[in-house]
Amino acid sequence: MSSGKINVSVENIFPLIKKFLYSDHEIFLRELISNATDATLKLKHLTSIGEAAVEYGNPKIEVKIDKEGKKLHIIDQGLGMTMEEVEKYINQIAFSGAEEFLEKYKDSAKDSGVIGHFGLGFYSAFMVASKVELITKSFKDEPAAHWTCDGSPEFTLVPHDKTERGTEIILHIAEDSLEFLEESKIKGLLTKYNKFMPIPIKFGTKQEALPKPEDAPEDYKTEYKEVENIINNPNPAWTKQPTDLKDEDYKSFYRELYPMQFDDPLFHIHLNVDYPFNLTGILYFPKLAADLQIQKDKIQLYQNQVFVTDNVDGIVPEFLTMLKGVIDSPDIPLNVSRSYLQADGNVKKISNYITRKVSDKLKSLFNENREDFEAKWNDIKIVLEYGMLSEPKFYEKAGDFVLYPTIDNTYFTLAELKEKLKDTQTDKDGKLVILYASNKETQHSYIESAKEKGYEVLLLDSPIVSHLIQKLEADNENLTFARVDGDVIEKLIQKEENQISKLSEDEKESLKTVLETIVPKETYSVQLEAMDSKSAPFMITQPEFMRRMKEMSQSGGGGMFGMGNLPEMYNLVVNTNSELATSILSTENEDAKASLVKQALDLAKLSQGLLKGEELTSFVKRSFETLK
Ligand code: ADP
Ligand code: MG
Repeated sequence: MSSGKINVSVENIFPLIKKFLYSDHEIFLRELISNATDATLKLKHLTSIGEAAVEYGNPKIEVKIDKEGKKLHIIDQGLGMTMEEVEKYINQIAFSGAEEFLEKYKDSAKDSGVIGHFGLGFYSAFMVASKVELITKSFKDEPAAHWTCDGSPEFTLVPHDKTERGTEIILHIAEDSLEFLEESKIKGLLTKYNKFMPIPIKFGTKQEALPKPEDAPEDYKTEYKEVENIINNPNPAWTKQPTDLKDEDYKSFYRELYPMQFDDPLFHIHLNVDYPFNLTGILYFPKLAADLQIQKDKIQLYQNQVFVTDNVDGIVPEFLTMLKGVIDSPDIPLNVSRSYLQADGNVKKISNYITRKVSDKLKSLFNENREDFEAKWNDIKIVLEYGMLSEPKFYEKAGDFVLYPTIDNTYFTLAELKEKLKDTQTDKDGKLVILYASNKETQHSYIESAKEKGYEVLLLDSPIVSHLIQKLEADNENLTFARVDGDVIEKLIQKEENQISKLSEDEKESLKTVLETIVPKETYSVQLEAMDSKSAPFMITQPEFMRRMKEMSQSGGGGMFGMGNLPEMYNLVVNTNSELATSILSTENEDAKASLVKQALDLAKLSQGLLKGEELTSFVKRSFETLK
């Protein structure tokens, strides 16, 4: 028998471990199963290179609850430890055996999948246990060892009669951690952290239906047998080669990842690199929920198939955090702060790699089946538009596949749009004017009148579109975007023939005076325009610049523009060539004149969606009166 003091520099490390090692006590199970997995993978490696003359077989890891004895057992069939090794690897805290193994077998073990490298994993058991036993039999021809420690730095180490190879860890669960004796709790943890670990994990049993016998009677009742319950899928899709997977395999893996998700993903991206960093994974473009805030299923981060977190901020570019799927990389430093993470060279490279893979995939989807890509556009646009705004590397590539749909569902790339509009929609300086609407319903009359004049109108209805437009204009000198209700289209787009005003300068002057006395000037500035007589006589527009600034300050950049609450300002555009303009001028009775103007203003407000509440009620009343 040997006993002694665990070799730590701090006199009593255990209270420290309990308090500070991990804020999340539950991760003890992940650590112990990782060790069991490592022990098994190490044995596999040693047998494969002929350094362990034993049968590898089909090893499993078993987790067992002993509720009465208040114990939790974790049993593996890995390489085990000799007495000497227990001394070395268990008693010398913070001496990571995994790291030593990797160092020793540097060249051959690189791909063995060994997990541990912190050297404190085993001791996390003391976060939930008042006493820990370790019974281990090495694959080497040496007696088994029994190590016990009750949470003080004193331990005992004696021989044991265990004969089968492997290690059993017995946790005597502490009074304040009895929840870890609940089957549902352990099952939940195993599914959270170990669902895709590479060695089968057995926990409890389950019922399996026996096949129906050939001569089964009509009232045959299915019979069941108890079989062992394997919790995990040791070969998840992301560890396989893309060439070995069909579309259906990717979809079923999606359902395995997110059992509560009912929609199929739109498409997937298989990530697979080993230089200059190691990373595998599968990302999915999901059908986004209408409310982006309630996306619960997130991208999961794994290291060698061990779940680490679903917070991938800083690792995945922000615009892609709306995607789903898994990323598995041993090269992401985890025990560091987020700000350090962002400064890490590897992490930066990983983030860039992901951006590149996503844009490559989008480009190939666009090239291979444009029709299908267009059909998915509405579901993916918000992610892409956000990417263009936030990720310069993505923006550079976006021209190849980002689409601009018209109100009638024709999809153009920006280059196609420029080509299409270059002769028909330019302003007096030769700039291309791209007309767009943000809402098909409320801007209906403006859209219709633009279409009547033969113009192409885009439907750009994402919440961040004003930011995007601003950026596109800044980067394309010859481009300007104008919302259909932003200004009089005739003023924006150059036409051969200019409308001649029917009214004389004097008449215009007196019309303007009349209008300005009746129309509230805090809100409307009156503009007279000589337009086609068929165009609306009164029209309300909101200057593009004003509206865009207002929208941008609402959707985020508030402080940036320092505009606070901008007042609502509109233009009231009056067509001097309309019959109504002539009628107003020729009406002698002041009251009749005023009510003509008010009625016309209300109609213009109505088509801009600005007539509401009391104003709307009295408008309806007044209109009925005139019908009498
Ligand atoms: P790490 O896993 O980072 O090396 P741990 O504290 O988790 O650190 O484990 C320390 C060492 O103890 C391991 O490296 C390994 O050598 C040994 N060990 C722990 N658990 C087992 C086990 N189940 N079978 C064999 N060796 C183990
Ligand atoms: Mg470990």
